[in-house]
Amino acid sequence: MENLLVAENIYKRFGNFTALNNVSINIPQESIFGLLGPNGAGKTTLLRIINQITMPDEGKVYLGGRPLHPDDIAHIGYLPEERGLYKSMKVGEQALYLARLKGLTRAEAKERLQFWFKRLEIEGWWDKKIQELSKGMAQKVQFVITVLHRPKLLIFDEPFSGFDPVNANLIKDEILQLKEEGATILFSTHRMESVEELCEYIALIHKSNKLLDGKVSDIKKAYKSNTFEVGLDAVDEPTLKRELEDRFQVGSANYKSIQNDLKLTIKLKDNESSNDLIQFLLTRARINHFVEVIPSVNDIFIKTVTQNA
Ligand code: ADP
Ligand code: MG
Repeated sequence: MENLLVAENIYKRFGNFTALNNVSINIPQESIFGLLGPNGAGKTTLLRIINQITMPDEGKVYLGGRPLHPDDIAHIGYLPEERGLYKSMKVGEQALYLARLKGLTRAEAKERLQFWFKRLEIEGWWDKKIQELSKGMAQKVQFVITVLHRPKLLIFDEPFSGFDPVNANLIKDEILQLKEEGATILFSTHRMESVEELCEYIALIHKSNKLLDGKVSDIKKAYKSNTFEVGLDAVDEPTLKRELEDRFQVGSANYKSIQNDLKLTIKLKDNESSNDLIQFLLTRARINHFVEVIPSVNDIFIKTVTQNA
């Protein structure tokens, strides 16, 4: 798929400190791309460069195949990490004002804002002041303003921080919906759990360096270890366990079930497949549970960081 955004060999230094060390990312059109890494990794710095708030020391950014141009901000919606709204202004008034700055007519802005306020269940807040809003509510308002002009590229810096789990989920669903409607989405997060359902592509940055990037499914395939989690019902559990241990690398598993099974993880050799294991088990136990162990993005991140330490 064609890339909407390409950042190529980006370097950014603050004095002696290198905040981005030769970082490149490619964001395919109409994808959701997660920029992941712990606090201080360099995520916000990269997003600010893409939004032309700061300049890179070296490297180039391309949008739609062309070098980034100041006018491109019209095609980008950006939710910055520091959520600045004018505290004493009324919510609706401020939303209208900011929407007008993005080039919408007053009528368009009002119509779209009413739609979004209703959708995010904040319509009762139109005449309240920003300072009366909770952090999460102010963030909802800012989310609406970010997406209101329907830019083709949406950039959210830590969109879930500040939200309770219910609202974080609501925003996650909105992001998925925006992608369905054709937007390309780049977001940063230091919390790995929010990426699993959302991202098709990720890049992991750690201490200013990109450690890993690509399609989540490809990365998971590369990191999985031919290990299966099984739940077995056998007449003679100790014997079965011994037999398994003779042939496979066996560990214990811990998953929720209503059965009082022997719960194990079984790692196969590279030349073995799930069918070899099933065949072995069939004559020895009833198989109540059988799933391949797929590493989480968090597992992969921890593994990559330790390998690079
Ligand atoms: P992240 O968003 O991944 O948490 P940042 O991009 O905000 O990380 O910061 C990366 C590093 O660069 C941090 O160590 C931060 O202190 C440093 N940094 C960011 N902006 C500046 C700046 N304007 N001046 C000096 N150091 C900065
Ligand atoms: Mg940040």
